[in-house]
Amino acid sequence: MKQGIPERIKLFKFASRSMNFSHIYQVKDFPRIGALVSNVDAPVNVELDFSLVDHKIPCIKGKIKLNVALTCQRCLNDVSIRLQPNFQLAFLQNEQQGEELDSNFETILNADEEFSTIEFITDEVLISIPMIPMHEHECASYKEETQLIEEQKRENPFAILKQLKNSTKE
Ligand SMILES: [Zn+2]
Repeated sequence: MKQGIPERIKLFKFASRSMNFSHIYQVKDFPRIGALVSNVDAPVNVELDFSLVDHKIPCIKGKIKLNVALTCQRCLNDVSIRLQPNFQLAFLQNEQQGEELDSNFETILNADEEFSTIEFITDEVLISIPMIPMHEHECASYKEETQLIEEQKRENPFAILKQLKNSTKE
């Protein structure tokens, strides 16, 4: 049975009870994500399944789904990008414990027993956001303008250096 996600994750407690949670948040519930995107009212679907592997290793299997509106780095218009970070995390007390786990697990050492659900989800979403968001189709390119800006950027530091040199000579 699914239920809403508590504000704080209690790792061992949830894992030993094999708890499952799901909730539909909004992007604005995650301030660090909201600061990067323009669709702060969009839904964020989150499912978290806890389990205890080998009676001692708390694990979280998670599925997150959301659309983020970012600025396309080719045409500079909004681009909506579908993010679906899935993860399988094992929380270890020492590295030896990891040897018993199958390699599908990403391992995390010495996590706190209790941590913020929002911060945890935020971290998983942020690593899934592309560094250079772009439309999948060939959108109108502003390449020439961009090149111009790039050239200006390149010239500026030297121009400033020159000015500095000149001013120290005086
Ligand atoms: Zn574009």
